[in-house]
Amino acid sequence: MLGLMQNMPLTISSLIRHADRNHGDTEIVSRETGGGLHRYTYHDAHRRSRQLARALIALGVRPSDRVASLAWNNHRHFELYYGVSGMGAILNTINPRLFPEQIGYIINHAEDGLVFFDLTFLPLVEGLAAHCKGVRSWVALTDRARMPESKLPLLCYEDLVNAHSDDYEWPLFDENTASSLCYTSGTTGNPKGALYSHRSTVLHAYGSCLPDALNLSARDTVLPVVPLFHVNAWGLPYACALTGARLVMPGPQLDGASLHELFEQEEVTVSAGVPTIWLGLLQYLKEKQLRLSTVKRLVIGGSAAPPALIRAFDEDFGITVLHAWGMTEMSPLGTVNTPKGKHLKLPAAELDRMRLNQGRPIYGVEMKIVDDSGKELPRDGKAFGDLLVRGPWIASGYYKGEGGDILREGGWFATGDVATLDADGYMQITDRSKDVIKSGGEWISSIELENLAVAHPAVAEAAVIGVAHPKWDERPLLIVVKKKDAEVSREQLLDFMRDKVAKWWLPDDVVFVDSLPHTATGKLLKTRLREDFREHQLPG
Ligand code: ADP
Repeated sequence: MLGLMQNMPLTISSLIRHADRNHGDTEIVSRETGGGLHRYTYHDAHRRSRQLARALIALGVRPSDRVASLAWNNHRHFELYYGVSGMGAILNTINPRLFPEQIGYIINHAEDGLVFFDLTFLPLVEGLAAHCKGVRSWVALTDRARMPESKLPLLCYEDLVNAHSDDYEWPLFDENTASSLCYTSGTTGNPKGALYSHRSTVLHAYGSCLPDALNLSARDTVLPVVPLFHVNAWGLPYACALTGARLVMPGPQLDGASLHELFEQEEVTVSAGVPTIWLGLLQYLKEKQLRLSTVKRLVIGGSAAPPALIRAFDEDFGITVLHAWGMTEMSPLGTVNTPKGKHLKLPAAELDRMRLNQGRPIYGVEMKIVDDSGKELPRDGKAFGDLLVRGPWIASGYYKGEGGDILREGGWFATGDVATLDADGYMQITDRSKDVIKSGGEWISSIELENLAVAHPAVAEAAVIGVAHPKWDERPLLIVVKKKDAEVSREQLLDFMRDKVAKWWLPDDVVFVDSLPHTATGKLLKTRLREDFREHQLPG
């Protein structure tokens, strides 16, 4: 017997309609690509998204067609989120920091018919056009007055939107319809597309707002530093509409000074981004002796948040850090670190230690760890193995079947992370499976060593990689960027780490460099480091 409840499809358009009806005067603020702040409301955004939907139809976009964006976090990009997906097409958000060849590959692989781009990316787009013959139109996200000279026949976004009325009803369709397409960074091989659906997106938005997840509400002002081109800004454009949170978007200016100004001026309460962003901001705040007077929570994810960073925001600034873990294939949220009631009575040092792991799964995400033979390992906080996940906002395959059947028996997806799980559900990443250092048949966690090194006051950033060793297969090499004007020697650093890890975990050598290579999404590019230091001679 089936239940007798209405079978209303969970569509992305229902989010912006809800925000318009119930939070119509709530502001959306964005820093424009050319500078200056733009202000309007959910009501305006909803109206313009419907005008955009009509413009897309007039341009010949049909349901399930792919439409690309190359854009910063701003109000026009937000409108694409709702206009494109809302009318039944698929928004392919592309990371402009990828290599141009990768971007060309993605546009061709996705068969994007239209590409909407911010003016910053005009040179990029002009270089791509000859290689992307399937693109019918390149649309500049600007108004007539700022339209650039170009050898390409560009369309103007404002002209398109303004040519149409908002007399448009969002269509209803199967909630499993594809809504957006995000390619993984592909540090090895070609990028692969995670194809989200309306249902997966709305369920993920519901889950992400929960009090033990990002805890969003209509009392928050949310500033996603995480780009709208990086896994849908971790779902925040949807979650903000769902809750009616005020939204502030930083445009292209992500340096400490610009962020601090926007945080203060717009009274931001919640923000989210990768560790590199927060390390930069923290350094700026300390240098200039500034405060963040309204921020209550910072979501840090995308790579392991160093304990020193979590502590600094908490102890020096009174801001709760929500350490979160996820991936493109998971929409992306999987876990968030928040304590349970029983933990609040723990001694401070223990509670402090607890806060460092990646947290508990949000309802909707199931997790287990397995050994090499696929046997499930105990949830004891000690055993570590391959982390598998399943749930309604986790990929069942890649776009166009790339990579073949990606699920294991029982529908489990292998994350490529190595982790521990404990009886309370807390997960701790010990490494990426390809980054773990295999020394004499035992595993050494590169992340744990990096966290330790970054805790030294003279260290700005650290990476640990395995270097070939005749006896032990691999031994850890620590590569360090010192803080500006700070001094520390190899011996001092190793001494600092010595009593904090097992003796055989201690790096065999330390190298100081001016900067470390990062991927397009801000992660340490360890493939490059391993190449650069392949010939490194360890002492002894
Ligand atoms: P990309 O950023 O390269 O597009 P993803 O965002 O999908 O790719 O990267 C997901 C991976 O990032 C995870 O599998 C994990 O290895 C790493 N990661 C994300 N968040 C964390 C975290 N809080 N701690 C440690 N690793 C993390």
